[in-house]
Order: sequence, then structure tokens, then C-alpha cells
Amino acid sequence: MISVFDILKYYYCPREFYLLKVLKAPFRAKTKMVYGKVQQEKEEERRLIRNFFGEELKDIQFGVYLEDLDLGLTGIVDALLFLNNGDIVPLEMKYTDFTDLNLQKKKQIYAYAKLIETSFRKSVNYGYILFIKQRRIKKIPVTADDKLFIINDVTKLKKILEEEKIPPYTHSRKCNYCEVKRFCGRPGI
Ligand code: SF4
Repeated sequence: MISVFDILKYYYCPREFYLLKVLKAPFRAKTKMVYGKVQQEKEEERRLIRNFFGEELKDIQFGVYLEDLDLGLTGIVDALLFLNNGDIVPLEMKYTDFTDLNLQKKKQIYAYAKLIETSFRKSVNYGYILFIKQRRIKKIPVTADDKLFIINDVTKLKKILEEEKIPPYTHSRKCNYCEVKRFCGRPGI
């Protein structure tokens, strides 16, 4: 099975994905990630979400496990939002200083949109990222192509696992923040 976390890691660095998934490199979460985990269901986040959506919001469920067995994809979404217009959409919480919307962050939303569609048999065309520190929510559109590319991503990641061929190094700027750099073998890090 491929997880949404695997896709997230692959889009950070394919080699990191490989080290974690195939070689089982010990993963050491950064302080802010640990902080994020323990804070996840606290009232502050719930209040931020309720303030932002107001009357639009019917219900929130935190930490929901989703799976698509046919595709071979699983994930635990930070929050599922049930809106009064009938939409069910994913929301991911970020505890970072950086609020840029890179492909890595968007891919998480695309993957959860795909999983929600399978689980609830409803079309999902957007999701949200909540930047906790900045108290900002950004809406992420999700197109049919975005969801199609998630299917391609899962196929690609499965192939890497089957072939057991370690991917090349990524852009060195990312290595400074990499959780498994001790196991990478990249010279000079
Ligand atoms: S140290 Fe750099 S090249 Fe190696 S896995 Fe981490 S991000 Fe990728």
C-alpha cells in the first residue's frame, strides 16, 4: 500500500521516500511536526476552522483514516469538513513558517480528495490547508487531472518499490531539512 505520507515524501525527494519505505530508515520528526501532532485536535484548531467557515460548516472530524483498496492508497487526513452545501472536503494543518503552496502540499490535498471520493462516493473539487501559526486558510482547487495524476503517482511509487532501485539525490537545498539525511549517503551533508 502507498500512503499519502509516501506521496508527500516522494515530492520532497524520491530518495527520501525510498530510504523511508524500502530501507526503513528511522524517521525523526522535527519539533514543529511533533508539536503539530499533539496539538492537532485541540480546541484552538477547531475554533480557527469554525471561525473561518461560520455557518457553512456542519461538522468536523479529525484524524480520519481513508483508503482506496483498488488503487492501493491509504491516508489519515487531518480533518474532514462536512459543509452545509453537502460537500465533504479535506483540510490539512501545517505548523510551518512557510505558507507557500508548493506541489508537495497540494499533492496531499489531491490525494485526500481522491480518497474521499472513493469513501463517500461524492465528487471533491477542492480542499483546504490551514497554516496554524499564521492563522490562515488557503483553498486548493482540485481538478480531474489532479486526481488522475494521483493514480499515476501511486503506480510510479509502487514501481520504485518493486524495482528496489534507489533514486538519485535531489536538489541539495532540501537536504538541510531532510529527516533521513544521515542515511542518504550524499557527500558533504
Ligand atoms: S539528504 Fe537530500 S538527497 Fe538525501 S534523501 Fe534527504 S533530501 Fe534526498
